[in-house]
Amino acid sequence: MRELKLAPSIFAADIGDLKKQIRILEEQNADLLHVDVMDGHFVEKMAFGPDHIKMLKEITNLPLDVHLMIERPERKLDEMIHAGADIITIHQEATARLYSCIEKIKSSGRKAGVVLSPATNEQSLKYIMDKIDMILLMTIHPGEDGPGFHEELLEKIQNVREMIGDREIDLEVDGGIDQTNIGRCREAGANVFVSGGYVFQGDISKNMQRLREELGE
Ligand code: ZN
Repeated sequence: MRELKLAPSIFAADIGDLKKQIRILEEQNADLLHVDVMDGHFVEKMAFGPDHIKMLKEITNLPLDVHLMIERPERKLDEMIHAGADIITIHQEATARLYSCIEKIKSSGRKAGVVLSPATNEQSLKYIMDKIDMILLMTIHPGEDGPGFHEELLEKIQNVREMIGDREIDLEVDGGIDQTNIGRCREAGANVFVSGGYVFQGDISKNMQRLREELGE
C-alpha cells in the first residue's frame, strides 16, 4: 500500500489569513498543498492562476498539487510549470490532447496526472496508465456546490486501484472529503486525500488530526 497523504485545498482557506493558515498546515505535516485552478469555462467559478502559484511557492515548501479545472489545459501548461507547480493534473474531459499534455508536464520534470469527473468512465485510463504519476477521481462534480460526496464512487476508486496494480501511481480523491468518508475512501484504495471545506472550518489543527485518526495513523 502506498503512503497516505493529506492534501488540504487552498480554495477553502481564508485568503486574508493565508500565511498563518499555511503555517498551521505545515506544522500538521500536510503532505501536499492542493490548488484548484478554475477558468470560468470548464467550471463556472474562477480561482487561482499562475501568479497565485508563484506566490504560494514563495511562502511554503509544501509541494503544490495543481488541479487544472480549465478548458484546453494545453494552452496554460508552460505558465503553470514556470510558476512552480510540482504536480499538475488535467481533466480528461477538458482536452483532446491528453497524451501530449502529459508528455509536456513529464518532460519538464514535474509530476503529471489525469482527473476524471464523476460520470467519466475509468476504462479510458488504461491507455495512459504507464505515462502518469497520479490519478485524481472527483467525488463531487467539479466546481459545483450542492450534494456532497457521491457514495457510489467508492466502487470507482476500487476499480481504479485494481487497474493501477503495482504501478507507482498515487490515487487521489477530491470533493466533499471529510471525517465521515475519508476512511472509506482509504479502504477503497485511495492514498491521497484532498480536503477543503472540512479542514478550514474551525480549528485547522484539530481537523487535520481528526483526518489522520480516521486514516488510522
Ligand atoms: Zn481539486
